[in-house]
Amino acid sequence: MVEKVVKLMGQKESIRNMGIAAHIDHGKTTLSDNILAGCGIISEDLSGQQLFLDFDEQEQARGITINAANVSMVHKYKDKEYLVNMIDTPGHVDFGGDVTRAMRAVDGAIIVVCAVEGVMPQTKTVIKQALKEKVKPLLFINKVDRLINELQLSPEDMQKRFMKIINEVNIFIQANAPDEYKKEWLVDVNSGKVAFGSAVGNWATSIPYMKSTNITFKDIIDYCNNEDQKGLSKKAKLHEVILDMAVRHLPNPLEAQKYRIPNIWHGDPESSVGKSMAACDESGQVTMMVTKITIDPQAGEIANGRLYSGKIKKGMELYSDGAKENLRIQQLGVYMGPDRINVEQVSAGNILAITGLKKTFAGDTLSEGKIAPFESIKHYSEPVITKAIEPKKPADLPKLIEVLKSMAKADPTLQVSIDEETGEYLLSGMGELHLEVTEYRINNERGVEITSGKPIVVYRETINKQGPEVQGRSPNKHNDIFIVAEPLEDGVYKAIHEGKISEGRRKNTKDIWKELAEFGMEKDEARKVKNIFQGNLLVDSTRGVVHLDEVMELIHDGFEQCMKKGPLTNEPCTKVKIKLIDVKLHEDAIHRGPAQMYPAVKNPIYSSMIQAEPSLMEPKQNLFIQTPSSFMGSASRDIQSRRGMILDMQQEGEQSTIQASVPVAEMFGFAGDIRSATEGNVLWNTENAGFEKVPRELQKELVSSIRKRKGLDPRPPQASDFL
Ligand code: GDP
Repeated sequence: MVEKVVKLMGQKESIRNMGIAAHIDHGKTTLSDNILAGCGIISEDLSGQQLFLDFDEQEQARGITINAANVSMVHKYKDKEYLVNMIDTPGHVDFGGDVTRAMRAVDGAIIVVCAVEGVMPQTKTVIKQALKEKVKPLLFINKVDRLINELQLSPEDMQKRFMKIINEVNIFIQANAPDEYKKEWLVDVNSGKVAFGSAVGNWATSIPYMKSTNITFKDIIDYCNNEDQKGLSKKAKLHEVILDMAVRHLPNPLEAQKYRIPNIWHGDPESSVGKSMAACDESGQVTMMVTKITIDPQAGEIANGRLYSGKIKKGMELYSDGAKENLRIQQLGVYMGPDRINVEQVSAGNILAITGLKKTFAGDTLSEGKIAPFESIKHYSEPVITKAIEPKKPADLPKLIEVLKSMAKADPTLQVSIDEETGEYLLSGMGELHLEVTEYRINNERGVEITSGKPIVVYRETINKQGPEVQGRSPNKHNDIFIVAEPLEDGVYKAIHEGKISEGRRKNTKDIWKELAEFGMEKDEARKVKNIFQGNLLVDSTRGVVHLDEVMELIHDGFEQCMKKGPLTNEPCTKVKIKLIDVKLHEDAIHRGPAQMYPAVKNPIYSSMIQAEPSLMEPKQNLFIQTPSSFMGSASRDIQSRRGMILDMQQEGEQSTIQASVPVAEMFGFAGDIRSATEGNVLWNTENAGFEKVPRELQKELVSSIRKRKGLDPRPPQASDFL
């Protein structure tokens, strides 16, 4: 098997890189397992129970896939052998960052939708994430056995349900696909871009498969009614249908990289490295993007990613854009289930695992010599919850710091900071579950016993009107900076959030000013944007200031420090635009070092903001609840008692579904309460839904309680405090 994999890795036309993505519980893990079993990688009887890709202990215990793991398989289609590299992705919104990174590594995605539940919000999120990376979608409608055995639908009603799901998926693809693929990427059932089946029952079919095998819907219904899905699984083989679909409809890396590279890499397309990436040329320079760091108890940190060009060999040195230095590869490997198998070399177009690169991290660009880095991977969600943690034994502190550093590298959605007042370590993440999982790993997998505080909501500070122009002066009185703070345009803020405009410090705005203008900024101003940081902008409106270039990095630092810690409560800022109006600098560089420049930048930013009606925004979650109709009343009462807003209520037979939007701050203890409100008859999940203003009547008290918690004066500061 290994020899075959290695041989096929060199034949680009025969490679397919695909991901599987779905709403939680729609059957992605079961599907992955049974595909692997079908390819002979795990024994058929074990799969389904074994949850092969869920090999992380924590995932096994919780029964959800938390990290994307990958595996290489050989599949025969029309007498030719293909190499399918498959990535499993997490289905829980708390780990949305992992999904996006997994998408970067693949060219196609199988979207799994449960036939009973239909298209769910997370289904749409993963389709959107795939399309944004120009990853081609295919559809698998799962749990069809339940339509037959539980809901006892007639063949006509079954088809109607399929059509409804396919239509919904297609409307969404149409709206989000890149222009040139809006038509071609629709999932058309007749050409076999849609498969139906049961991951648990290990069977599947598609229109072309039914035609070639003469298996009809009626046969399928009969098998299910006779409780003989095992018999059906021998005739309508799940792995065959899915992998046939992937080989036939997904692009190989030669085709895919042509259009994917311009989307994810913004270097010069005419340069030799640009050309070899687009052509997936293995004789070119090595370029690779790290999409995931995993930890191996023996080998340590492993960098997993996609090789876009060149040939990687053992012992080679690669330049890390993040670490800014050359790193030496110790070992190279490919995955077959949880086993990493060492190989001597890997060529362009494949997904691989490297050991020995201690300083790299998820999202890093690795290359032979320095190149322009890959577009940074965008996250649709930002940390909303923080917990303070400390080691049980003080002697473990240095070890804990090491562990935290390495975990933050593996999971960029995790943020670690130190509370300067208390010296505590603060862990921030995408939700309660995300932090629980992280704590579990620190305790049980990394062997550092910790205790943690109560989870605390992370708010955002913003401003509601333009502040006055404020003059900032350096302590030595030799430098002056004039600044105005104002609210950022709604459209620009939204575009940054949706990843349409990328963040970072920039020398010029050639590539983005038109877009900024389109989203609502004035053209002149759009050309002067110097920094986009966590949803905030720095604009340089000065003219001809001598030496400005020499202090610009310090101004960026000061701006970013302010945006990380706002004036009202020291919470991060969002949707703020800071304008540099004028700058007067001392001739001599010795008088404008960091100690002079930081206060000269930060004080006027804070002062202008505090006079611009600052207020707090709170994170919200969309909540989806399914419960028997008799419990609908008590469920909605619970939601309303949490400042929740009910967005939709539907009834289908005995079942009701409720959609609501609830502040994260009110969600603590929800799991227990909703269980008792419905006597345990409930399925529910949540999805982060951005930030909204805290209601006026709660603002003042919230501000002072946050300030108290942080050991600050409960009264917010005045403009004069920053003079
Ligand atoms: P994931 O969260 O998407 O990875 O979903 P899992 O693969 O863990 O499946 C969630 C649950 O649905 C498990 O209890 C599975 O046994 C069950 N399941 C998965 N596929 C099917 C199916 O085709 N039919 C039925 N009846 N149950 C299924």
